[in-house]
Amino acid sequence: MDKKMETIVSLCKRRGFLFQSSDIYGGLQGFWDYGPLGVELKRNVREAWWSDMITNHDELTVREGAPTTFQMTGIETSLIMHPQVWKCSGHYDLFHDMMVDCRESKKRYRFDHLRGRWGEHEGRRLFFTTIESDDAGFDQVNAKALKVFGMKKKYLDKISWETEDMLPITEIGSFDEVVAPDVDEPGTLTEPREFNLMFKTVIGALSTEEEGTAFLRPETAQGMFVNFKNVVDSSRVKIPFGIAQIGKSFRNEITPRNFTFRSREFEQMEMEFFCHPDASRDWYTYWRDRRYAWYVNLGIGSDNLILRDHTQEELAHYSVGTADVEYAFPFLAQGEYGELEGIAHRGDFDLRSHMEGKLVREDDCLVVQNDEDGKPKYKGSGKDLSYFNDQTRERFVPHVIEPAAGADRATLAFMCEAYFEDEQPDDKGKMQKRTVMRFHPKLAPVKAAVFPLIKKEGMPERAADIYRELKSAGIAAIYSQQGAIGKRYRQQDEIGTPFCITIDGDTAADDTVTLRDRDTLDQVRVKTSELVDEISRRLRV
Ligand code: ATP
Repeated sequence: MDKKMETIVSLCKRRGFLFQSSDIYGGLQGFWDYGPLGVELKRNVREAWWSDMITNHDELTVREGAPTTFQMTGIETSLIMHPQVWKCSGHYDLFHDMMVDCRESKKRYRFDHLRGRWGEHEGRRLFFTTIESDDAGFDQVNAKALKVFGMKKKYLDKISWETEDMLPITEIGSFDEVVAPDVDEPGTLTEPREFNLMFKTVIGALSTEEEGTAFLRPETAQGMFVNFKNVVDSSRVKIPFGIAQIGKSFRNEITPRNFTFRSREFEQMEMEFFCHPDASRDWYTYWRDRRYAWYVNLGIGSDNLILRDHTQEELAHYSVGTADVEYAFPFLAQGEYGELEGIAHRGDFDLRSHMEGKLVREDDCLVVQNDEDGKPKYKGSGKDLSYFNDQTRERFVPHVIEPAAGADRATLAFMCEAYFEDEQPDDKGKMQKRTVMRFHPKLAPVKAAVFPLIKKEGMPERAADIYRELKSAGIAAIYSQQGAIGKRYRQQDEIGTPFCITIDGDTAADDTVTLRDRDTLDQVRVKTSELVDEISRRLRV
């Protein structure tokens, strides 16, 4: 793993952002626990998304770039849904990755994650593979080639490499010359096979596996589609409108890795936006640009963030257009980006599938997929999920724009982006290395830390009062009186607390405190009576 990433992972554990799940039993691959600071950070990420989507949405004003005004509403649906949902959505048949097994190491890899280089020595030509995509990947491939060719490190330049870059294994014809990542001989990989990513479970104590099989949801989106009619019938929403949900999803990923980036249990923040088919392209562009801007406004530098339109080949079979918001995670090779969110134009695929049965594209049209007897392969609900516009008297099946984000990937990106190292003078004026998490104030797990300069002369009592005032104003504050003041500042910088407040000898005389800014390091005197307002103002940026 990249050096910066290693440092972030160790900071996460040391300061209580993230722990491996079931740590005391050696951990469980692909599952993570958020610690005391992590839980606050992730709550703030969710809250920033929910307030942008729902709480602060103003349905009376046309937002910049939007074709018209629109309404937004929320929902929370169950993690286990009727099995027919996944048959009609396509997940039952199509939600799989290709995997390969290594007969020797007994390890399993996602086929498209394996990459490598052809290396040749004395007429022997082999394809050496890895699953790491940064410099560590090249180191592994080099070391493996030396071992397999039986050479010492100093002779590395005697191996001739066919390419500078790593090639995807998907471009290799035969596996006989492939050396798998965890063995020292070629030809141990099996042919690729399909592996469905949905976690199975059984409902009810007496169910047989056959009749009781259900799935943990692999995405939250289907909850919105199957409730489309309930929401229209029970609330005053009119098209165009969106239904948003935040919740857990589960995917039995073959190779969970890169910290929380690819986990087996993770949280999604998804929204289905229902609109008239004629307006759907404009809405797609609107949501695509707005979702990119959300990350930038919360502090992700545009150098590290891209909005990438999918090519025609990449588009899902139902999609007219899809774009990904991608971030340059430190565990990726230079110039590579990892997906934070996908914004897809899904047409009427989902609502029609749940009405009519699973759809497939034929000659550029979506038609119900039939079995050999000409009957629908998977029957839909048969419910009418069309929408009637009572002003234009028009009935139509709405088109859908879906911004689908991952709360854990967003949290990880905000952590990677926030991480900085610099040098600052300590209490004696000596330069010391400082680690600082420059979280956007809205995301910072702790907003303000309150310190009495010393543990006497009434300072702790005054500091405790201020701490309580901040808390009762809803500002996440902590109180600390241990250690030298410089050390206390550095401890807060490391967890990204934007403001530190110090109560000192002058406080009793003029009722002011020192307010220190984490990023500028500016220290200003603020009247205690104005402190809550001042911090609230700074948090609203
Ligand atoms: P990938 O190609 O990386 O597997 P995806 O395109 O399958 O992702 P979507 O189905 O579009 O992902 O899911 C929407 C979002 O959910 C993703 O952009 C990502 O932020 C999040 N997500 C998906 N799979 C995982 C996972 N295994 N771990 C963490 N977050 C995930």
